[in-house]
Amino acid sequence: MISTQAAVLHRPGEPLTIETIDVHPPGPGEALVEIAATGLCHTDTTALDGDNPSCVYPAVLGHEGAGVVVETGPEVDLRPGDHVIPLYGPECGTCSMCRSGRTNLCWSIKATRDRGVLPDGTTRFSLGGQPVHHFMGTSTLSRYTVVPEIALSRIRPDAPLDAVCLLGCGVTTGVGAALADVEAGDDVVVLGLGGIGTNVVQGARLAGAARIIGVDTVPAKRKLAERFGMTDFVHAGEVDDVVEAIRELTGGGADASFECTGIVPVMRQAVDAARPGWGTCVLLGVEPTGAELPIPPVGVRYGKTIKGSYFGGVRGRTGLSRFVDLYLDGDLDLDSQITHRGRLADVNDGFARMAAGVGIRTVLELGS
Ligand SMILES: [Zn+2]
Ligand SMILES: [Zn+2]
Repeated sequence: MISTQAAVLHRPGEPLTIETIDVHPPGPGEALVEIAATGLCHTDTTALDGDNPSCVYPAVLGHEGAGVVVETGPEVDLRPGDHVIPLYGPECGTCSMCRSGRTNLCWSIKATRDRGVLPDGTTRFSLGGQPVHHFMGTSTLSRYTVVPEIALSRIRPDAPLDAVCLLGCGVTTGVGAALADVEAGDDVVVLGLGGIGTNVVQGARLAGAARIIGVDTVPAKRKLAERFGMTDFVHAGEVDDVVEAIRELTGGGADASFECTGIVPVMRQAVDAARPGWGTCVLLGVEPTGAELPIPPVGVRYGKTIKGSYFGGVRGRTGLSRFVDLYLDGDLDLDSQITHRGRLADVNDGFARMAAGVGIRTVLELGS
């Protein structure tokens, strides 16, 4: 057992507290990982607000990390020294979903993950002898964390961990979704230019899109999105009709539209902005619990596709290395997205900046 510093959320509505917790050794199929760096992502804030039913308190938050394996339990192929990115979506390779070859969803350990424990039903964290729960199966806001091997993606050792940690969530979600559904020469529209949306822009550029139209209510988002490849900007607060503006720019509608806000009326705009006959609308933003999306069926009957994407459709253990390579080859920009850096003690400031819409990503470095 080792003692380490971790950011613990005791109950919703309170700030995180930096505690010295005990981390118990990895069991069969598990690895102990020293987290070098972790990004702060919006999904963590749903636990802060008490809106995440899979957060069991107290919990160690964090799901956008990268680190180094320091110890493994039995039946593990990873070795100490391996560089890894923890995955909230595992890839077991043996369940019916993994074997289908049709989805990157793997629900082999979802039931225990969503109860804040490892697959054997227990936690590897404790504070003063009382259990502390895992969050999203990753808990990267602890210098040491224990993760099942099927939820660890081994990456090349020359990748800087304080940058590629971003591949654990938002970057991969946005870039992967664009690479999956944008073809060279396409006109693309991206509704919402936050952490996901800017990465859809970047992925659409990589896919060879002709025109990449960004839509947002905040004009300040324009400059950064242009750096990632946006060609046109629609200020949603200033045009009368966003869908009409997109149809005008594209001569009838976008080949692919990406919704990145989770706001239901914006989802409807994304559906309507897709070109009749073949346009694809991809929903990436997370709607409020229980929300429904009313759409006229005619567009779908005439050939539009409405779909979604989880983690950009990327299989975590076998598909993430491609994104690491893209970054190291200079094709994927991670560095411009890291607007703030800090230490574990800066975690609450980072979440406050996120709530205020200041900057894009905060990366915390956890090493000594
Ligand atoms: Zn995330
Ligand atoms: Zn599986």
